[in-house]
Amino acid sequence: MTAQDSQPLPLAQRPAEEVDAFLTREQEAYDALRAAGLTLDLTRGKPAPAQLALADRLLDLPDGFTDRDGVDTRNYGGLAGLAELREMFAELLGLEPAQLVAGGNASLVMMREVLVDLVLHGAVDSERPWGREDKITFICPVPGYDRHFTLLDWLGIETVTVEMGEDGPDVEEVARLAASDPSIKGMWLVPTYANPTGSVVTQEVAERLASMPTAAPDFKILWDNAYALHHLTPEDAKTADIVSLAAAAGHPHRPIVFASTSKITYAGAGVAFLGGSVETVQWYLAHLGQGSIGPDKVNQLRHVQFFGSAQGVRDHMVRHREIIAPKFAEVDRVLEEQLGDLGVATWTRPAGGYFVSLDVLDGTATRVIALAKEAGVALTPAGSAFPGSHDPRDRNIRLAPTFPQPADVTAAMEAVATCVRLAAAEKLVADRG
Ligand code: PMP
Repeated sequence: MTAQDSQPLPLAQRPAEEVDAFLTREQEAYDALRAAGLTLDLTRGKPAPAQLALADRLLDLPDGFTDRDGVDTRNYGGLAGLAELREMFAELLGLEPAQLVAGGNASLVMMREVLVDLVLHGAVDSERPWGREDKITFICPVPGYDRHFTLLDWLGIETVTVEMGEDGPDVEEVARLAASDPSIKGMWLVPTYANPTGSVVTQEVAERLASMPTAAPDFKILWDNAYALHHLTPEDAKTADIVSLAAAAGHPHRPIVFASTSKITYAGAGVAFLGGSVETVQWYLAHLGQGSIGPDKVNQLRHVQFFGSAQGVRDHMVRHREIIAPKFAEVDRVLEEQLGDLGVATWTRPAGGYFVSLDVLDGTATRVIALAKEAGVALTPAGSAFPGSHDPRDRNIRLAPTFPQPADVTAAMEAVATCVRLAAAEKLVADRG
């Protein structure tokens, strides 16, 4: 017998009676699972308590209250954020300090502010506010981050999807769309360890995005680098320098960069950053200044003292990796062991970030998620990685393994695998008629 012969056939190619028997076995396995009374949650990409505890020294900081220039951080002022924190994160994000703002605790708030500013006032390179256009459309790589899509929906911005591959979005399609339709004003992109695919935008893709001709003269790339430093292996992916690439290509104001320490220190009490051309930064601050006299500089000073340097941040991320990399390895181990030879699912093996993107048999994601829920395992709702929560193939499931305890990751993934197998068998039997 050759190695080829010893491989079990994919479920879809097995004889009908074998699939029927498989279905019966999986129904029994599922009944046993339901009887086990699990309560597990793989929905949101949250740091685990052990990760948050890595930053607990923050609670005893700052030591004193003045920054290196003697500024009293307790008082008003300093809209762009503490210079020393901006320097530290400029180094990490590959920007100049003058190209970076340090703000409050949530980069998502900055994204909302930027979109509102664009709609009400237009960008530094706009002819008029975006809100005066007949229509605004955004390119959305899918699967992607649900909150990017709900934000667009909230503002009445239309979406057009492109596929997210391993090297980033389908850049030919992005370039074609952006060149052909002036209502297309921008795109979302998570360049490093994307949510949920783990994709990393290559230098070539970044160059193309930075230089492509666009029908809208004020096209924006909202470069959400939420996972810039969140490596799961010792080979750190380096994010392409989109701001320099765009400047070199003659589109200096095209990218707006976002990042935060939400998954570095505290998800609810970190520091968020916005970057771009100096003009973009000034534009953002001018609008921000209408509603703020300065950020929480005490928290920023605390972060400066906690990390000490950019290297301090990198070292801290290694400690996160030590906690979460085994959980990702466990997701892969269980999926491989339980689904590997059935041909009913594929999944990502991310080198960083917070998610695994699982594609099950077309038309079964909703069923898998419903089965898991019945069995006490909460998964992100079907379609949530697509605008309007509409996954045209009903196959994508976002798994977030960071928060649960390691043993719970194992139990949850074994349950997910059972649900995937059962839903696949049900579908194959039903399709046979
Ligand atoms: N962007 C992406 C891609 C995310 O996955 C998340 C967190 N789920 C955020 C932004 C939120 O960032 P913040 O906590 O800085 O608002």
